This record gives sequence, C-alpha cells and structure tokens, in this order.
Amino acid sequence: MTGRKAEQPPISCAECRASLQDYLDGTMVKTESMRVFLHLRDCADCEAVHRQWQATFEALESMPELEPPADFDARVLAAVPYDSYRAMAELRAPRVPVIFAEESLPAVVRSPVTRLAGMVVAAGAGVAMGWFDGPSSLAYLVLAGLLPEAVVRLQGALRGAVLVLQRDRGRA
Ligand SMILES: [Zn+2]
Repeated sequence: MTGRKAEQPPISCAECRASLQDYLDGTMVKTESMRVFLHLRDCADCEAVHRQWQATFEALESMPELEPPADFDARVLAAVPYDSYRAMAELRAPRVPVIFAEESLPAVVRSPVTRLAGMVVAAGAGVAMGWFDGPSSLAYLVLAGLLPEAVVRLQGALRGAVLVLQRDRGRA
C-alpha cells in the first residue's frame, strides 16, 4: 500500500459497471481496480450487479470443456448441400499469388489520380522533347510518368493470365 496521498477520486456507477468485466477478469490496473473495489464496497446497487456477474462467470467456468469429435470438419462439410457448395465456387476459385493481387500495389500507384497525372507528365515531356527540341533527359520523365499506369496494366495482364491458367488446370 502506498499511503493515502495517491488516492483517486471516486468513480460513478456507470464507470463502475463499465469496468466490471475487466475487474472480474483481473485485467485492470491496480489503482483502477481499487477504485472499483471501493465503489462496490459503498454502493449496494453496483454490488448487486457485481454479484450477478460473478455468479455468471462462475457458472461459465464450471461448465465442462467440450472437445469436437475428430470427424467434425468432415461432417460439417458433408452437411453442406451440393448446390451451396457450387454457389461458393466463385469465392474459392480465383486465388492469384499475392504479387498479382491488385491490393499488393501501393494505393498511391493504383490511384487513378496518380496514373492520370503520370500520363499527363509523360505526354508533356514527350511534347516538349519533340516540339521544342528539349533535352533528351526528358525521356526519363516520359518513362517515369508512364510507369504507374504501366505497372497497373502489367499486373492486371499477369493476373488475367494466371487466372486463365488456373481455370484450364481446373478443367483438365
Ligand atoms: Zn454504484
């Protein structure tokens, strides 16, 4: 015990009840737990709720643990109607390696704004090179501008190819 100086202000009934589960789990910081304890000591209403929770927890803990039977998975799957199983084919089939999944590209690259801006930059640099006989280093700008769109398209093409391959393999 650390003396009376560090005493916390009392908590309200609402705060007390919101904390009851953590209090019973024993997962609260000690000082917080103490505040709940002090409130329960002085508040008959909250103490009644506390007792109910405690009884519920004890009832739950005294229940026997059930092990699922060994063939549980197989039985659940066998109970799924074949039509439902087929209806889920869409969900099961199209799995592509992560690198081909659209989400694997940074959102910045995928963003239509980035792709459009890149193409505008590339077009601008290309025009400047041709019309104004600009420096050839602008070619890098053309490439850099086209890059986001190119990456997204290349990934899309590869993803499509992988899906086609998978479909053919599934059929064979
Ligand atoms: Zn209370």
